[in-house]
Amino acid sequence: MSKRTLQIAQIVPITEAEGPGTRFAIWMQGCPLRCSGCCNPEMLKFEGGKTTPVEELIKQILDNAKDNVYLEGITLLGGEPFSHARGLDQVAKAVQEHGLTVMAFTGFLLEDLREREDSYIDRLIRHTDILVDGPYDRERPDSTRRWIGSANQRVHFLSNRYAEADSHWERKDTLEIRLQGNQLTVNGFPAKNAVGVWKRPKVSHQE
Ligand code: SF4
Repeated sequence: MSKRTLQIAQIVPITEAEGPGTRFAIWMQGCPLRCSGCCNPEMLKFEGGKTTPVEELIKQILDNAKDNVYLEGITLLGGEPFSHARGLDQVAKAVQEHGLTVMAFTGFLLEDLREREDSYIDRLIRHTDILVDGPYDRERPDSTRRWIGSANQRVHFLSNRYAEADSHWERKDTLEIRLQGNQLTVNGFPAKNAVGVWKRPKVSHQE
């Protein structure tokens, strides 16, 4: 059994705002990039977050999938998921083996990730169904594509589980607001064109 751990900034175990269908969303703590207008600056530092054993995260996702038969997959966000590939590769592989899908957002370009010839990154790519790549650029907000922050970012369909023609992409972006105890959390993407300038909301941490 793997003893590897991951630094997790936030988990939303059930969301319909972070990719196709109902998903388990995981924000990683730590990103080496500094995109203009990064909407999760509190997740840039590699220090912090909750140290979580890989096996524990996999169990949490699979237990959730048992309880919520409509859980379609997981979404990896950041922070920078590919800076945490050593560990997330195991998570992605395990959930795919149980029929779930994997969507990941990265600030790197797919070709640059492949050029690194890093076995953990390669494995995470291999077990990703949808990859959204490229740095977020606040000067080029994307006003048409669901879930996509800026026009330079690309969507790669890396398996046959999804395609550009899927109806998911036609619907409007959604934002979810939850009250848990005395804490308000926000995740998702606000509807574009609503205020002229697209800005992803800051996600508050869950303890
Ligand atoms: S890749 Fe994401 S988390 Fe990292 S700086 Fe860019 S927008 Fe922020």
